[in-house]
Amino acid sequence: MKHLKEEKTYVMIKPDGVRKGLTGEIIRRFEQRDLKIVALEMFQPSHDQMDNHYPKNEEWITRLGKKTLSTYEKYGYDAMLDFGTLEPEKIGPEIRKWLIDYMMSAPLVKMIVQGVHAVDVVRKIAGETMPYLAAVGTIRGDYSIDSPALANKEKRCVTNVVHCSETPDEAEHEIKHWFGEGKTYDYKRFGVDE
Ligand code: ADP
Repeated sequence: MKHLKEEKTYVMIKPDGVRKGLTGEIIRRFEQRDLKIVALEMFQPSHDQMDNHYPKNEEWITRLGKKTLSTYEKYGYDAMLDFGTLEPEKIGPEIRKWLIDYMMSAPLVKMIVQGVHAVDVVRKIAGETMPYLAAVGTIRGDYSIDSPALANKEKRCVTNVVHCSETPDEAEHEIKHWFGEGKTYDYKRFGVDE
């Protein structure tokens, strides 16, 4: 079994994060929490790479549609008017398409972040998916106010500064997808590894 300090997660600074000049600030917040950046690169993804990054299974896509429908219900909006359907499995693909368009709209910064409970701690630092609900002090809570109600009305996905893996299995899969067998760097952090 791997040492706890070796847990790795995958993080991507999304187009709005890069364009707001938040690359340094985001890295700083991970490093401040004693997490270690072991791989880092700015790049422009291809459409296929982005398409293969987000799950294609019906369950995930329907979940996106359901989230949108519940937002519409909450705010009394008419999903039929905007999407021409009330079926989450038909709304989901539309949101997924907006997501890919958004992720391709500027360069991204990808990194592998390593440390104790890296997956959970990075998600905690990133904050809740929906910025308007994310706690102040988290990346999404401090640097975005976007909401699905606004985004879906504007026919785009929610812009929330960063992506980070949800589980260790997802992290392993995403690290392989974006870095292949590429090099990570092993070094000792002062005060953490020695
Ligand atoms: P997370 O990025 O926190 O893991 P999800 O996997 O649920 O969140 O969703 C992936 C991304 O899709 C989100 O980060 C957000 O950019 C976008 N998104 C999720 N739900 C919606 C929605 N209802 N409307 C628009 N965009 C959405």
